[in-house]
Amino acid sequence: MSFKEKYADFFENLDQEYFEKERFVPAVGPEEAEVMLVGEAPGENEVEQREPFVGRAGSQLDEILHRIGVEREDLYITNLVKIRPPENRDPKTDEIEAWRPLLEKEIEEVDPEVIIPLGNFASKEIVGTSKGITSIHGEYFQRQGRRIMPVYHPAAILYDRSKEEGLEEDLRKAFGKENSGQRTLDDL
Ligand code: URA
Repeated sequence: MSFKEKYADFFENLDQEYFEKERFVPAVGPEEAEVMLVGEAPGENEVEQREPFVGRAGSQLDEILHRIGVEREDLYITNLVKIRPPENRDPKTDEIEAWRPLLEKEIEEVDPEVIIPLGNFASKEIVGTSKGITSIHGEYFQRQGRRIMPVYHPAAILYDRSKEEGLEEDLRKAFGKENSGQRTLDDL
């Protein structure tokens, strides 16, 4: 069953103003995943490949996941808004509101133990705060019995390298892969 078929109720009720087939990117990953990553909205590469986080931000994310020993295939990866905004602008409030019920359904369906919102938009929505990612990243929040750990968006580290360590450290914490400080063969 395709993603659209699975969530047919949502798509039937979605105002068509917010849907555009050529810009739509469904979620990817196992329905029984323990960890759910939630980005902001797809970009150009994601639309081309119809998969979240396959462009530059995705490579950053993949590199860090590899370093901490997490398989991308084990994760459910989705976006707050599932249509690429024109010229990669930020998603607007009405777009977020239109797509948000779908994210709620995905959370219910996948029932992950941990949700990791990537960046400001997804974090504010999922944690339900107006605080920015700089002050809340790496902290655990509780939501309906689930743990939420907001982290920096991997695209942010392309512009600000100092955030890379922060993202890695937070992801290690979220996945229980804290660095012991011990060197490994990979470090040599
Ligand atoms: N940025 C996002 O927030 N989501 C993607 O899928 C790709 C880049």
